[in-house]
Amino acid sequence: MDDQFRRIPQVQSLLETDTAIALIGAYGHADVTNSIRLKLDDMRRAIRQTKEISNQELHPDKLLQDIAQNLRASRQVTLKPVINATGVIISTNLGRAKLAPEAIAAIQAIADTYSTLEIDLATGKRGSRQSHVEALICKLTGAEAALVVNNCAAAVLVSLSALAAKRDVIVSRGELVEIGGSFRMPDVIVQSGAHLKEVGATNKTHLSDYENAMSDETALLLKSHTSNFKIVGFTSAPSREDLVALASKSNLPLIEDLGSGLLVSLADHHLPDEPIVRDVLAAGVDLVMFSGDKLLGGPQSGIIAGKRSLIDQISKHPISRACRIDKFSLAALHATLELYMAPNDPFRSVPVLVALSEPLTAIRGRAARLMRKIDSFDQIQANLISSVAFAGGGTLPEQDLPSFAVSIAPLNQSVESLSRRLRQAPKPVLGRISKNQLMLDMRTISDHEVYEIADALHVAASI
Ligand SMILES: *Cc1c(COP(=O)(O)O)cnc(C)c1O
Repeated sequence: MDDQFRRIPQVQSLLETDTAIALIGAYGHADVTNSIRLKLDDMRRAIRQTKEISNQELHPDKLLQDIAQNLRASRQVTLKPVINATGVIISTNLGRAKLAPEAIAAIQAIADTYSTLEIDLATGKRGSRQSHVEALICKLTGAEAALVVNNCAAAVLVSLSALAAKRDVIVSRGELVEIGGSFRMPDVIVQSGAHLKEVGATNKTHLSDYENAMSDETALLLKSHTSNFKIVGFTSAPSREDLVALASKSNLPLIEDLGSGLLVSLADHHLPDEPIVRDVLAAGVDLVMFSGDKLLGGPQSGIIAGKRSLIDQISKHPISRACRIDKFSLAALHATLELYMAPNDPFRSVPVLVALSEPLTAIRGRAARLMRKIDSFDQIQANLISSVAFAGGGTLPEQDLPSFAVSIAPLNQSVESLSRRLRQAPKPVLGRISKNQLMLDMRTISDHEVYEIADALHVAASI
């Protein structure tokens, strides 16, 4: 065993080779030394486990070859653009909303220079970063006041921390949702220091359940949009209007976590309506919270809108400083919100809404164009088929969006292999596998991406 270990070269001897000297030129001394150490540690571990490592494996040339590869891999950019052909418009894994050009320009305009982030040019004194978006949010939602933080989870956390710490928050059991793997309403309530008071059963909650749970310890009523699932069948919950009446009779705030943050009706586009922020506030809810990068179609951010007195309380809480929005998101959010103001039409300019409302003929046109481009590839069998796309992002949970896809059956490799090769393209292409075919949905891609998909398919199909 000791003999085995003695066969491992010394770090110093490897560092003195010509290969290592070239690597140091490319990656720097510290990174190369560290990579050599890690590789030699691997070898020691392998010897301890298997006790038999060939001389070839331990040859300095082979070791340095692996080290060079590890260094190359470690310097590769991993956060990069992909082509989303999954048909899921708002996918958290793929970065949620695509930004409008106006939002990108707004980020760019302040990126390499100083900006008015927190200065009031009229007085020359310190200003608030919130001032850049608050008025616009109020116009679009009818709220008295608004506060923006870095995401909706933070919006809920800071609201509860400021308004309900050490007191009771009453929530229906049917609304104690988990969004994604990491946002569970009960956990967020605990983190805020508030006490969760669950009422009702999973499928049914009555107004009297809320009423019976109220006491001197009650801070507020919390309603949460069950955005990513539906309980169907024997269910009931008090209407928003009933809750508003109860909260106001009891002098307690009613706050609602909306998740999606829809600012305009989807009804004209034959889509079912999620609650619209303006309507929820008009119904008498005191405070709402929603994401900036779901149906709103902007950057990652969380918006809190509603009563001035509640917003003031939240702004002063130390956690709101810890969750504050960064200047790039703020710039992009402002530019996105502008696209909702007349004479702009958000269904023509906010990419999420464009994708949701795009006519089927346009989607079919892209599918046909891709078909023509890949017609001559003889290693695959392609078909233009109708498919189903989704809003995603915990929005419109039941809603299938009609769409078109190009379905691809590879003739000389497995569908998993083709799919993997497309993921490894310089600009990865992500589809979904169904019935042993790779489906490339055309609702979530842009016109110019048709050509990029064709090029990537050409490479991935040729083996
Ligand atoms: C998505 C969602 C959240 C979390 O929003 P983030 O912006 O991802 O933090 C919170 N509540 C509801 C109801 C949601 O749908």
